[in-house]
Amino acid sequence: MTTVIHTINELIKVIKDWKKAGHSVGLVPTMGALHTGHASLIQKSAETCDKTVVSVFVNPTQFGINEDFSKYPRTLEKDVELANTYNADIVFAPSAEEMYGNNYNKDFMTLVCPPYDLVNKLCGKTRTGHFDGVATVVTKLFNIAQPNYAFFGQKDAQQLYIIEKMVKDLNFDIKIIPCPIVREESGLAISSRNQYLSEEEKLQAVSLSKALFTIKKYFDKGIKDSKALFDTGISMLDSHAELEYLDFIDYDNFEKTDIIKGKTLVAICAKVGTTRLIDNIVLE
Ligand code: AMP
Repeated sequence: MTTVIHTINELIKVIKDWKKAGHSVGLVPTMGALHTGHASLIQKSAETCDKTVVSVFVNPTQFGINEDFSKYPRTLEKDVELANTYNADIVFAPSAEEMYGNNYNKDFMTLVCPPYDLVNKLCGKTRTGHFDGVATVVTKLFNIAQPNYAFFGQKDAQQLYIIEKMVKDLNFDIKIIPCPIVREESGLAISSRNQYLSEEEKLQAVSLSKALFTIKKYFDKGIKDSKALFDTGISMLDSHAELEYLDFIDYDNFEKTDIIKGKTLVAICAKVGTTRLIDNIVLE
């Protein structure tokens, strides 16, 4: 049975006992509202590690002032059920006060700031401070849970890239395991934010993945020019979807690329109604 822990000290104590007994520990950081995408990470952790901790924390420091922090779905009871189904040992669900203290003020807190060149594009361009918030909370979770392995979804490709770089740069002794994007049958990437979508908007949202799959189809036919691929992708996007970016990023240096040479991330972000959605595909 999955145990729910709300305090840092209690989790540290359990982890110490596990480590003493020689168990390997897997960490799956989430913001809750768990779905089959999260489940795939939890399952992978349970297969890979002796013990699995799923953190459920809607991290205030990674939300901008006009973002959806207050309305983000909070469904702890259901989350524990899902975590239990996929054999998680612990759900760690701290409060913001537990993580940051009673009067935390971002300006007075030590932050982990990923390199500007990784942050100044894709989501980081409009979500100022977002990746500082992510890197900081993930660092705290790593220090608290002391995992041997940590599981992250390719769905948040920029986040994954930044975490992998952080682990290398700051010498965390943790193996990061990337997990593939889980999609609905329609192709729509599963996300906690999909529940904001009406039925009509959901149909419009499917066009993000359609755009990506079309780009992949033309790439596989031999088109390597990202402008031409961009145009074919855009032609698939529903007219109600408001594009924020559709960028081609070289995995070697995480820079935009005109001609696709090696492994390339194609990342899309668009607003459908008031819901901001992201998705991506890898070309290689
Ligand atoms: P979140 O709760 O949205 O912060 O996501 C927690 C973790 O689950 C992140 O590593 C995400 O990349 C991953 N994740 C979210 N949605 C999916 C999905 N559809 N497929 C695979 N991983 C996902």
